[in-house]
Amino acid sequence: MSNQNPFVTDQLTARNPNGQSNATYELTKSSANPVRHIGRDGRGFPIEDTIPTASKWGWFLMPDGGLNKVPLRTGSVPSMHADAIAYENEVTYDIVMAGGIPAHLCPYSTELSYITKGPFAQPPPGVTDCGGSTKEGGCIHLQEIRKARIAEVQRRYDLDLEQFTSRQHEEYERMRQGIVQGVGEAIAKHAVNPVAARAEKAQRMREGKDE
Ligand SMILES: [Zn+2]
Repeated sequence: MSNQNPFVTDQLTARNPNGQSNATYELTKSSANPVRHIGRDGRGFPIEDTIPTASKWGWFLMPDGGLNKVPLRTGSVPSMHADAIAYENEVTYDIVMAGGIPAHLCPYSTELSYITKGPFAQPPPGVTDCGGSTKEGGCIHLQEIRKARIAEVQRRYDLDLEQFTSRQHEEYERMRQGIVQGVGEAIAKHAVNPVAARAEKAQRMREGKDE
């Protein structure tokens, strides 16, 4: 198969475009974003599905309310090597410290209390860990926390927008007043006082300077 894009090749060959050996691989159709065709859409176009290159992924509810799919074991086959396990632990630690919650856990779970020193979120009175859910979006409690996080992001966005709009309005007002004042001054400067003008004209006629 010939490639129209010179930067895309069928084979992984460690060389640069002038043929010399290179430490980096060229981009291939399968190296950058491996996909498989899983069917056709309503227009008859092929539907591409990304093939996961990591063997373990985790869903996390992030501080902004988004659900992120994060690679936890980066090899293409599951690994129980110490560094593979350490990587998963480190990634999880960083995300949880930043306010992320593993989506399969209930936010009132104390499973990672070695990081959180308690549940991921303070439960309302009488509410306890429901055990979580592996279905998309997690348990009902996680969904509630997600809504609250999205609402908070929206509140801050609205506040920013409000401040921006009022600043813009103020600036516009200042500009408008400046223009009105400037125009007023210009009129005052160039306006002709009719009495003074008549007197001046009479004076010029007397002096024979005017027709
Ligand atoms: Zn729950």
